[in-house]
Amino acid sequence: MRLIIMGPPGAGKGTQAKVVADRFGIPAISTGDIFRANVSQGTPLGVEAKRYMDAGDYVPDSVTNAMVRDRIAEDDCVPGFLLDGYPRTVAQVEELDGMLAAAGDSLDAVLVLTVDDDELVKRLVHRAETDGRSDDTEDVIRHRQDVYNEQTAPLIKVYAERGLLVEVDGMGEVTDVTQRIAAALDGVRS
Ligand code: AMP
Repeated sequence: MRLIIMGPPGAGKGTQAKVVADRFGIPAISTGDIFRANVSQGTPLGVEAKRYMDAGDYVPDSVTNAMVRDRIAEDDCVPGFLLDGYPRTVAQVEELDGMLAAAGDSLDAVLVLTVDDDELVKRLVHRAETDGRSDDTEDVIRHRQDVYNEQTAPLIKVYAERGLLVEVDGMGEVTDVTQRIAAALDGVRS
């Protein structure tokens, strides 16, 4: 099973990604988490990524694509994977297409979580208080939302045209959203 989970910052992608991935016995791969791990370990990749992350900008495709290419070539990805936070640009979609085609694989579904703007801001402000992410300040949150709308939201149409889109209401309790996702993915091959 090869899945992508998409949605604006604060939609609950990370939380739901772990549950969905467990259900299908595949790894949840969060590019944001990999970048953050590199930042905290002070690796050259982390030093490079931090400049962009702290500003709420996307890390350059050359860095991100190479990182994902390496990660999905690992053994635990043989049964599939769930990508959380990648692809985020049309260029990354093309890059992922190439990686999958080279391996003779294809995507099964692209899950999109939809959440009201007011609720998104509420969740991000709460996350800033609890998680202490350096990119969860008000200005950076706003900028990340703009970048998402400009660069990532257009991917929804791209995947809809391929018949891969599975849209799920991401409002409400975490467990309710999980149930909605499970029901929506029921029809998708496992
Ligand atoms: P996230 O945890 O998914 O919100 O990602 C946090 C930050 O990591 C983003 O704001 C970007 O700076 C960077 N990042 C994560 N995934 C990508 C990606 N696919 N392309 C570029 N930058 C990314």
